[in-house]
Amino acid sequence: MARKKIIAGNWKMNMTPSEAVELVNTLKSLVVTEEADVVFCVPAIDIIPVVEAAKGSNIQVGAENMYFEEKGAYTGEISPNMLTDAGVKYVVLGHSERREYFAETNETVNKKMLKAFEHGLTPIMCCGETLEQREQGVTMDFIRQQVKVGFQNVTADQAKTAVIAYEPIWAIGTGKTATTEQAQEVCKAIRECIAEVYDEATAEAIRIQYGGSVNAATAPELFAQPDIDGGLVGGASLKPDFGKIVNWK
Ligand code: PGA
Repeated sequence: MARKKIIAGNWKMNMTPSEAVELVNTLKSLVVTEEADVVFCVPAIDIIPVVEAAKGSNIQVGAENMYFEEKGAYTGEISPNMLTDAGVKYVVLGHSERREYFAETNETVNKKMLKAFEHGLTPIMCCGETLEQREQGVTMDFIRQQVKVGFQNVTADQAKTAVIAYEPIWAIGTGKTATTEQAQEVCKAIRECIAEVYDEATAEAIRIQYGGSVNAATAPELFAQPDIDGGLVGGASLKPDFGKIVNWK
């Protein structure tokens, strides 16, 4: 069975709650599509107003992070059950900005993956190499490690429902999209890694996005690749352009 595309906006630390509602109201009619799941991953404080504003539309709401405990003395953190109670379906885990600025490791990402599944949240697990790693030729070694540790103790049935976002760090927010060939090559290799860890059926089912300066001009070619099942979109998800991206065909 063909995999359904999944196109997610990653708002990062943008949009106050009132701006968020305005943006959803602007985009709502532009992101209508049967071809893809459309997800808005938004800052924690925007979740409740965005869930409300998105009611009746095809927009599903995601969080940009969460903690791996249900409750307790973890000042400033948000738990998986808080997210589900608020109407969240997806959660971005291990974004490179969280790894770089907030000390996330493959191990903490793995703990969050397990918790997300336990609570019925679909993780969008990010992976991707730095420019230096690409130049040194260690891209796939690095990404395989991120994927293998990230999915430790995740069952095949859970993995089948997961989303992996391949985001080369050098392409994020730089306007420098990876070439279609580079993106396809790594997404294919990630699928092969999943086949190795699990089996062919799991590798066929899991959805792998490309992220890094995706825009309305680059989306059609990227999304036409056999191993690219959509995109994780930063900057362009905050503009009407996002409507064109989700209607890339
Ligand atoms: P970008 O961000 O589209 O602005 O490059 C992508 C991301 O970080 O998810």
